[in-house]
Amino acid sequence: MSPHVLILGGTTEARELAAVLAARPGVRVTTSLAGRVTRPGALAGDVRVGGFGGAQGLADWLREQRVDALVDATHPFAEGITRNAVRAAAAGGVTAVVLRRPGWRPGPGDRWHPVPSLAAAADLLPRFGPRAFLTTGRLGLAAFAHLTDRHFVVRSVEPPEPPMPPHTEVLLARGPFTVADETTLLRAYLIDVLVTKDSGGEATAAKLTAARHLGLPVVLVRRPPLPEGVSAVPDVVGVLARLGLNQP
Ligand code: NAP
Repeated sequence: MSPHVLILGGTTEARELAAVLAARPGVRVTTSLAGRVTRPGALAGDVRVGGFGGAQGLADWLREQRVDALVDATHPFAEGITRNAVRAAAAGGVTAVVLRRPGWRPGPGDRWHPVPSLAAAADLLPRFGPRAFLTTGRLGLAAFAHLTDRHFVVRSVEPPEPPMPPHTEVLLARGPFTVADETTLLRAYLIDVLVTKDSGGEATAAKLTAARHLGLPVVLVRRPPLPEGVSAVPDVVGVLARLGLNQP
């Protein structure tokens, strides 16, 4: 019988994996999206949208839909769904693989300030000039809302939701971005400091290169840890190997 693979998606890697698996004869693939983005774009295979109702809801779904393998390819900062995925798969005896693109690494000339949380990033900001470029996601602005004497330029795919700092300019855009464009943006908005999460990946790395070229400090929010005992694979090839599907 065809194996059924459920991909927990919302990332570029999840999209790539869906395309690779859907092209395999005899593999059934379903991608699950949280439903946060209004126009998520086409995906190969089947798609379902919305939460499962916690780890138990996901475990029920895995059983009802006869899922053989679960790939958590969600964003490195989507902590809750990863925890639920690992629990639900273990409860149902389903093979589970966690795909995590590697985090970014600093190079010569980088002025990075790693912090453990958005709150810690906010605490650090008064050390720098008053104009911050924030690419921490539209739901993370509450952590900065009390900083009334700073000016924020926020970039997100969907409009951010309050609470947010009083002096906030919003730029709606979706990556990938080029180094030239990011350099122009940082200059045009007179940015003093960049605040970002360590999402990793090529699509949004250009801002870090641009900050290095301009000598700007970067406050980098570290990733939350993976659930205990889980070791992630860094890419689609790693997922195929874990699933025993590495032969074309
Ligand atoms: P989260 O805090 O880990 O998840 C909160 C709840 O949203 C989960 O408990 C689950 O609800 C539901 N959910 C999350 N991902 C889902 C998926 N792929 N399919 C079905 N339900 C899902 O996650 P988040 O940080 O809000 O991120 C939500 C989605 O956006 C993720 O899929 C992630 O890949 C994507 N994303 C997140 C970020 C980020 O910075 N956090 C950035 C880019 C993309 P139930 O408990 O009801 O099942």
